[in-house]
Amino acid sequence: MIKALLTGHSRGLGTAIADALLARGIPLLALARSGNPQLCSAHPDLLQEVSLDFSDTPSLQAWLHTPALRDFFADAESALLINNAGLLQPVGLVGEADATAIAHAVAVNVTAPLLLTNAFVATTRHCADRRVVHISSGAARSPYAGWSVYCATKAALDHQARAMAAEHLPGLRVASLAPGVVDTAMQAEIRASSVEQFPQKGRFEALKNSGQLTSPDKAAQRLVNYLLGPNFGDVVDGDLRHLPD
Ligand code: NAP
Repeated sequence: MIKALLTGHSRGLGTAIADALLARGIPLLALARSGNPQLCSAHPDLLQEVSLDFSDTPSLQAWLHTPALRDFFADAESALLINNAGLLQPVGLVGEADATAIAHAVAVNVTAPLLLTNAFVATTRHCADRRVVHISSGAARSPYAGWSVYCATKAALDHQARAMAAEHLPGLRVASLAPGVVDTAMQAEIRASSVEQFPQKGRFEALKNSGQLTSPDKAAQRLVNYLLGPNFGDVVDGDLRHLPD
């Protein structure tokens, strides 16, 4: 049986990934601050939610010390971890950010996925097939003025994936994938930035106005097809739009 752990299922790309996994009958343990009542009522037997705030690292550590993960994966033969939860803020030039916002972003975008990945790998040693995917960003690979914290956190995920791939752990495959420009609340947040905070704001407005954003469902279907497919992990730091099916 395949089982999956997913973060950030409450909205956006995470909801669409959850939907795609649940539609395939894959039991899901889903972590975010908010729940997703619609998914819960559609899949009461497959979806378990845990409310966690990843900016509160001690709470996440405390949860990882409970038997929840071990119990969930106990009867799994294949195990998936999708580190999707993330945030864009603080947006603005270096020197203008609030220190708390920087620490918050690092906790959610880097500390939480690293802790979850470590716990996942430790808990799924009995699984013949284990797959970890980090939802990265083009911002991990191209510098964007105003997004230095976001760029740095996503680059950290890419490099964690490269290092973990180099360990060749039994049954483990990993990829850190940029999903493209996906039509979610995060894109609305980007368009709501000021030009002073984010000089490339106009480019993202133009993508939206010309209908070039990918729908969350399309990005999620592509991600889940690749995640479950035979080629997963061949490219460790890829772009979902350019991967083979
Ligand atoms: P979104 O709509 O803002 O959703 C973000 C998700 O992360 C939510 O489910 C949210 O759940 C969760 N999250 C945020 N802060 C959290 C916290 N403190 N603790 C636990 N969970 C938290 O964003 P999205 O566009 O779907 O983005 C999903 C992923 O794709 C992110 O990693 C993002 O960086 C990446 N990405 C997105 C795009 C894009 O164009 N949209 C492009 C490149 C990469 P709660 O609020 O319920 O906690």
